[in-house]
Amino acid sequence: MVHRFEGSFTQQEPIPEAAVDAAVTVLNHGRLHRYNLAEDEVGEASLLERDFAAFTGARYVLAMTSGGHALAAALRAHDVRPGDAVLTNAFTLAPVPGAIAGVGARVVFVETTESLTIDFAHLEEMAEMSGARVLMLSHMRGHQPDMDRVMRIAEGRGIEVIEDCAHTMGGSWRGVVSGRHGASACYSTQTYKHINSGEGGLLATDDPEVAARATLLSGSYMLYERHGAGPGTDVFEAIRDFTPNLSGRMDNLRAAILRPQLALLPGRVRRWADLHDAMEDVLRDVPHLSLIDRHPGLVRVGSSFQFRLPDHEANEIGTFVDRCAHRGVELKWFGAARAHGFTSTYRHWAYAHAPDLSQTDQVMAGLLDMRLPLTFSEEDCEIIARIIREEAASQRS
Ligand SMILES: *Cc1c(COP(=O)(O)O)cnc(C)c1O
Repeated sequence: MVHRFEGSFTQQEPIPEAAVDAAVTVLNHGRLHRYNLAEDEVGEASLLERDFAAFTGARYVLAMTSGGHALAAALRAHDVRPGDAVLTNAFTLAPVPGAIAGVGARVVFVETTESLTIDFAHLEEMAEMSGARVLMLSHMRGHQPDMDRVMRIAEGRGIEVIEDCAHTMGGSWRGVVSGRHGASACYSTQTYKHINSGEGGLLATDDPEVAARATLLSGSYMLYERHGAGPGTDVFEAIRDFTPNLSGRMDNLRAAILRPQLALLPGRVRRWADLHDAMEDVLRDVPHLSLIDRHPGLVRVGSSFQFRLPDHEANEIGTFVDRCAHRGVELKWFGAARAHGFTSTYRHWAYAHAPDLSQTDQVMAGLLDMRLPLTFSEEDCEIIARIIREEAASQRS
């Protein structure tokens, strides 16, 4: 029995050498602002937009300062106005309701299933009740619902879907790249996501008008023709004087760091799958511990791991989390009374004025979560999972 795990749950891999070299090139020429270009130069931000368009198959891609900024720009570009209702799944991260609240819209939360995905019956009910025109669907922790069902429900009601793909970059559903079902998709390149530029975001869409609006919103001034994967200048003509500048551009330095990492992403997704499998193999048949089901069509990016202790009382889970922490295993608990670190639930977002969601509450009460950084090996995952198994058993025997 290993008593204690010594690894760090927050240690990322170093930035690859090719990315460091690309960053040094940008630093040496000094043209960090994306519109600061030498004659005939295509800057790194534009090249990243092209690369990501090729990677996802989206017609248009816009690079921005953060995933949260991309979500807010997407809402505005889809013409969400103050007071409008926007549907979103209640199991998500704070930047999602934050983006909705930031444009002055009303957050309408939808219940969560035990698979950590949106509840379809409740989605239909809330769509009817709220009259929302937009669903911001957050693929929280990489869990994606049956996307065909989501799109049927949305399209039948004229609802546009904006996908939050912060945790699904590199994943897919029935062979369709994550983010390609909805009208727009937002990705994050923040340090804890799948490619790392410290901060950063990408918005992908096939809709030329959404792309043009988002570009102007991102602070393109009248230099929008200098984008790598944007619509033609004619699309901007009608809206250029009516779209405010909310300055949220990505710079060439971050883009330079990201491009070599994008090429490495498929390999990273495979390594995450191996780490995730190593965890599941140890925890598969543990009494009173439930793994999270996933749709067979989902290629999930296993950058984090979740499980549920559905039969445990709150105080038992508190003790379980403390005992795991004592043995070096850092778990986050979605059932905690107060928001803590990165972990919060809809109950903690008082600005969103959510009614009680009893099904989500029940799922969150037993939900535990941990990061799986690529600095872990499969052996590390086995040690971590064994510690979890032992502590879960010692709470409930
Ligand atoms: C990180 C994250 C975001 C936003 O990304 P930032 O780049 O940090 O603004 C949005 N949704 C989810 C689910 C996230 O985890």
